[in-house]
Amino acid sequence: RASGGCQKIRGAQLLELLESKHDVLFDCDGVIWNGETAVAGAPEAVRALKQRGKRVFFVTNNCTRPRQSYVQKFARLGFADVNEQEIFSSAYCSAAYLRDVATLTGKVFAIGCPGVHTELRDAGIAVVEEEEDGPDVNISNCALDPDVRAVLVGYDEKFSFMKLAKACCYLRDSECLFLATDPDPWHPLRGGRITPGSGSLTAALETASSRKAMVIGKPSRFMFECISSQFDLDPESSLMVGDRLETDIVFGVNCGLSTVLTLTGVSTFEQAQVYKDSDEAEKKDFVPDYVVESIADFMEALEE
Ligand code: PLP
Ligand code: CA
Repeated sequence: RASGGCQKIRGAQLLELLESKHDVLFDCDGVIWNGETAVAGAPEAVRALKQRGKRVFFVTNNCTRPRQSYVQKFARLGFADVNEQEIFSSAYCSAAYLRDVATLTGKVFAIGCPGVHTELRDAGIAVVEEEEDGPDVNISNCALDPDVRAVLVGYDEKFSFMKLAKACCYLRDSECLFLATDPDPWHPLRGGRITPGSGSLTAALETASSRKAMVIGKPSRFMFECISSQFDLDPESSLMVGDRLETDIVFGVNCGLSTVLTLTGVSTFEQAQVYKDSDEAEKKDFVPDYVVESIADFMEALEE
């Protein structure tokens, strides 16, 4: 890869990179926004790329919202021109996988926020209804649905021992699929706090079931395949922009895309350099080709 990677670029060099690409894939949190605040200059950068004829896609591991709710979030944060078809979340892609690849017959037992359940239902997939267990119900007498053929784990603020117990019972059947929306370990919150990510919940179920989940979100290739199946992307002319080396940059590398790390989110330039300087060959997959301070730099470059 060019110069071994980790090259800080802006201005004319960044313009040259953008001109060589037709499609730009943006991670959301840490790149486009941080929580409920847009990254300064991001709406303008997205608009400018579109005005120059680029196709723009959003690939997020955040499974908590259905696509339609992302459209509203984009609009609320000042992105006037983002439509549902451009948004690929790990919840939407999990549902697409179950419908189109696994061609699931039977039900899904889903651990996850309402966004996961909504996307599954929108894809026409049968989901085990979440219901409050009565006071006499416990792990040895709770009802199990005989039609379950897949377990899907995503971020779930109502995760419980009972959900974990039921999921590992379903996974006793080796024919029952085990999927994870994403492997993210944690996410930054405001004020220096963090929240545990889907990956931590999946890890609990992996231990309990002695099985490994198949990951749908970044860094797995499936999200790119999902976009490609609808929009016919060429990896050579696509760019992945992300803030987390272990998910976004590895995703780009796995899919054969050029990669850009932005410094408005989780990973730092120093961490990227540590991977670059590592003697372990597999660490090279964590090294971005390029580094920018913010995607606001795209705007500045395009105005040159
Ligand atoms: N999942 C959850 C629950 C999150 O809160 C976040 C970020 O805030 C993510 C995943 C990561 O999203 P992204 O892939 O857009 O960075
Ligand atoms: Ca991110």
